[in-house]
Formats: sequence, structure tokens, C-alpha cells
Amino acid sequence: MCSQMGKSENSVVGVNTFGQRSCRVCGSSGVRSPGTVEYFEGFRSEVFECQECYSFMTTHDSSVHELFHQSGAISYYFQYRQLAEKTKDLFDRKQTNLLRDYLTSYSSKYRFAIEEAEKLPSDARILEVGCSRGYLTSWFISSGRQILGMDVSREAIDSASAAFGRHFVLADSPEIAGNGPYDLIFHVGMIGCVPDPVGLTKDLLNLLKPGGRLIFNAPNRQSCYLKGQLWTDSAPPPDLVTLFTPGIWKRLFASEADVRETVENCPPEQSLRILLRRLFGLRWKPPEPNRISVAATEPRSHGQQWSRHWLRFEGLVVRCARVTGLIRLTKCQPYEFGLFVDLQKKSRADVVTG
Ligand SMILES: [Zn+2]
Repeated sequence: MCSQMGKSENSVVGVNTFGQRSCRVCGSSGVRSPGTVEYFEGFRSEVFECQECYSFMTTHDSSVHELFHQSGAISYYFQYRQLAEKTKDLFDRKQTNLLRDYLTSYSSKYRFAIEEAEKLPSDARILEVGCSRGYLTSWFISSGRQILGMDVSREAIDSASAAFGRHFVLADSPEIAGNGPYDLIFHVGMIGCVPDPVGLTKDLLNLLKPGGRLIFNAPNRQSCYLKGQLWTDSAPPPDLVTLFTPGIWKRLFASEADVRETVENCPPEQSLRILLRRLFGLRWKPPEPNRISVAATEPRSHGQQWSRHWLRFEGLVVRCARVTGLIRLTKCQPYEFGLFVDLQKKSRADVVTG
């Protein structure tokens, strides 16, 4: 899904000073392993659950992101190529408004970044972390914003620079600090893919002006709703390695920043399907491993296969709920990647007095 800043490798979940396994989010040594998953052949990942903050995590492997960029082996990497082509076309034709419409309707995480940036003066300094091929950055460039995009993947940076100009650097570039401090730093679909999400967040807060904002979306562990579910099927390890629980960002960063967390929910119809599956105690089926290859066609995505009978039943209940209007009363269920986090850096005086 993503790329990250160059950080030291953290190949196990985390190891504390006593050599025990520890949670990479809250640091607790109370982690247990409920099982393993293997979404790709040769990439068997042991899943850990933190008993303290309830995050799910697996081993991080920094070598795989370039491989996913090159192969498009996960469906969203494949879609990113199409996204890059479409945004390039609109960018070249200087269709800034259409580019905005396209990106904001494509994904709520892109909408989040664009709408927050629009609240800032046009000369605000902006950094996009994990910009991949620059498809989201393209709107910022097209609308004359002062943005720098960075990524760990050379392939992604070369592609972004060729498409949208010299606005992109690799994650170890001195330009990142040299261009700051920033009014806004954002990343989308990335925090669950890095070896040290908390360390990365601290580093990014250090690059902000006081009062500046760091915004991002995180995968929501609460979206794993099936019985025995160990991972979210649409973003498998070893790409995505941490699922977060709402509330953790406030807990970790309240002293350094004013933290707001917002949970995005699924639409009512999808929420009703989720509630039915929970009500009937449907079990999660572990994935069949796919092979990573340099695919020219859209890769087979992972996902639960429901029987025809079950889908018919679900469809019937949803139709009834729609006709009777009861669909409005459905308790909405969290969307997989819809934990939106907004950290506004406190000034030094606020930190001292607070
Ligand atoms: Zn934890």
C-alpha cells in the first residue's frame, strides 16, 4: 500500500531492553500470537496481538515494497498504476479542478488530505510522506502548492518525477529537513506499513512548525469483525504490518500535540452485511497464498468467498431493510482504513504549561 521513511529495521514485532517481544505501538511486553497468515507464497507471517493496546502486528520486511511496486502483485498497487495514468492525463491538460474531483471521489483518504490542505494559505509548506508515484501530489503541484513528495522506493520517485516534475525526493534526502519546517505533513495508507510507526510520527512532528499539522489515515483493527479473523484481507502482510485501535494516537501523543481521531464507517448496506455475519458468528477463512509475479493483468485479490446461499440471504435482508426503511437504523461499522488522525503540534510553551 505504501512506502515509508528510511528507518532502522525492526524485523520482529519489537524487542524491549530485556530481549522480550514487545508491541511496536505501545511498547508493552504483553503480546500474544493467535496464529499465522500466508497471503503470498514464501511470506508466512506470525500475527501478534497486544494485550495492552489491542493492536495487531506482524513482522516487517523492508525488502518487499520495491517488489510490490514492480510486480503490482497486490491489487491496490496495480490500481495505483491506473491512478497514476489518469492523474497524469489530467495534470498534463491542466485540469486542476477535474484532478481534484477525481482524487477526492476516488478515496476518502485523498479527500482528507486535499480538504485539509485547502484550509491553509497558498504559500504553506507541505510534505507528503510515502508519495509513491505522485498521483495525490499531482493535485498539489497543479494547484501551485509548495509541496515536496518523498518515498523510499526509487522506482516510485523516478516515475513521479518523470510524470509531474522535480518535486520528489528519496526518504534519505537532506532536502526533507532543509525544506521545512512544514505547515502540513500528510501521508495516506502508509502508517500500517512501517517498522516503527510511533518513531516515524515523532520524527514527522519534529519537522512541523508549532501549530503545524500531521494528518494521516490508519488501518482500523476494529474492522476485523469475523470470528477468528487475524488480518484484513484487502491489505495483506508483508505489505501492511500493523492494525491500530482507535484511541491509541491520543494516548501516545497528547503531550506533544492536540490529537483528533475520527473513525470512518462503512455505508449502511455494507454495515448491515457485516452485522449479519457477526450475528451468525461467521468464521474468517485464512487466505490461500498467491504467488508474487510481475503481473501484466490485474492480480487475484484476497477476500472471503461467501456461499451463494449466504449471499442470497444477505441480499434479501438488505432489500427488506431498504424497503421498510430500517436500513437507516443500522449501526454503522468501521471501515478498514478509516481511522483518521490529526495531530496539531503544540508550541513549546503549551507543552511546558500543559
Ligand atoms: Zn500495544
